Formats: sequence, structure tokens, C-alpha cells
Amino acid sequence: MRLIIATENTGKLGEFRQILTDPPWQVVSMRQAGFAGQIKEDGTDYQENALIKARSVHRVTGGLVLADDSGLSIDVLDGAPGLYSARFAGKDAGYPEKIARLYQDLRPFRPELWTAHFVCALAVIFPDGSTETVLRQVDGRIAPVPRGEGGFGYDPIFYLPERGLTMAELPETEKNRISHRGLALQALASLLLDRL
Ligand code: IMP
Repeated sequence: MRLIIATENTGKLGEFRQILTDPPWQVVSMRQAGFAGQIKEDGTDYQENALIKARSVHRVTGGLVLADDSGLSIDVLDGAPGLYSARFAGKDAGYPEKIARLYQDLRPFRPELWTAHFVCALAVIFPDGSTETVLRQVDGRIAPVPRGEGGFGYDPIFYLPERGLTMAELPETEKNRISHRGLALQALASLLLDRL
């Protein structure tokens, strides 16, 4: 089944491809499906943003479209960077810069208080225009220093106490099983298979 992924983020797209390897899924990026536009993410929460992305692509491509809106939320920073995770410290700032800025913001707080969450909303839009959304999160802490080479984005600073590793140190298959995106996709995949 052809599933169009509404994202420009190569990290996310790679994870969807790794997770949805088996039939009936045939994963296609929005670019491959002919969507060349830009999407304005002006929703007020993750689910709304995921629906905006799915609808924008579906309007052009039709078919079955899946979109992800996700972010890192740090409790002591009142949930920042949250919805603005991709744009934090400036849209063009690289992750070393975004991470340095986060450590600067965290400096006034004791490391014991650096609890954090990765949150992922997935929205799917069916060929008939109806929609479903799911929201999942994974809990952890901000590591005292970045560690690991895997994953993307903020993975090197997201520490999982029960594993003693950052998200970037986990094998790919394990990240995809336990992550916010992996959990959301597991929930959505069974819902999709029931419905289609
Ligand atoms: P979005 O494209 O607005 O949903 O941006 C999501 C942003 O949240 C990404 O660009 C990353 O900065 C961050 N993020 C979401 N999921 C992950 C993840 O699995 N690992 C690391 N960073 C993530």
C-alpha cells in the first residue's frame, strides 16, 4: 500500500522507511509523490501541525498521507523548545548550535531537574479525506554532555536512564521500537491495517 510521508526531514523519513519495511507498505516521500510546495506550520499543538502537513500534501497528491510533528520538551524550560524544536536558535542554526544554546538556558538549573520528553504526533489522511491522529511520548533527561552518533537532531542529548544511553547511542532498531515516533507509528499502523 502506497503511503506518502509528508516531511522534508531526512532523519524522520529514514526512520519511517526503517520501520515500515514490510509489505503492505510502500513508503514514498512527498517529493517523490510530486509535492514541491512549502508548508506553513502555524498550528497551536503537535496534532494540529501534523494535520496541517498531511492536508497540505494530500490536497496535491491525493492517496494515503502520513505526517509527523514532533519535538523535545524540557520541563524546567517550561516545555521549550517544544513546537519550535526545529526552529530553535534560528531556523538555519545547526544542531551543535541549538544544543549549545539549550545548555546555556539550562545552566541556572541543577542537572537533577533536567527532565525531558520527546513527543510525536502522527496524522494520517485517507484517500476519502478522513483523518486519524495519535500522540506518544518517551520520557528521559538531558545528558550532561552530548553522546553518540546515531539518530538525528537532539538525540545525542536525550538520555534514557533505564538504558544508561542517549538516544543517539541506541542501535537503530531499538530507537525505532521505544522512541516517541516508534510508539506512535506502532499505534497508528494497527489502526491503519484495521481500517484499510
Ligand atoms: P518538525 O518538523 O516541526 O516536527 O520538527 C521536529 C523537530 O523536533 C526536529 O527537527 C528535531 O529538532 C526534533 N525532533 C523530533 N523528533 C526527534 C528525534 O527523534 N530525535 C531528535 N530530535 C527530534
